[in-house]
Amino acid sequence: MTKVLIAEDNAVNRELLRELLEIRGYTVFEACDGQEALQMIEQTQPDLLLLDIGMPVLDGFAVVRKIRENPHLAKLPVVAVTAYAMRDDREKILGAQFDGYLSKPVNSRSLTQELDRLLTQRDDRNAPNQLHEGPADGKARAAGNSE
Ligand code: MN
Repeated sequence: MTKVLIAEDNAVNRELLRELLEIRGYTVFEACDGQEALQMIEQTQPDLLLLDIGMPVLDGFAVVRKIRENPHLAKLPVVAVTAYAMRDDREKILGAQFDGYLSKPVNSRSLTQELDRLLTQRDDRNAPNQLHEGPADGKARAAGNSE
């Protein structure tokens, strides 16, 4: 069961994302502003966060900053979801500790690509021995066996 938290203040956009995610078998949680997003992360322990930039209380930039300040959440994949289409905004977003970027209206194929990319990275980190071979992994395996 892979859990995705949607943080988005617009109800129509939340519903669209929920439908796209549920069709693909993800378990979906929702937050309507940045403060609620931080609370829901604690409560639901999502595998990935889709984070709107323009939100009341705390915007997406503030939320991702708080996430990266928390050692327990530092590796949570966070995808910015925004209508900001300007090149400068895109670069600002990619420089702000997000792992990915989706522009609104979110298209199904882009969403799938981002989820596959980021959730596969996460799985690699959790299970390095299954996927790689070589001297470095030999060491890792030996270290694991000695524990
Ligand atoms: Mn918004």
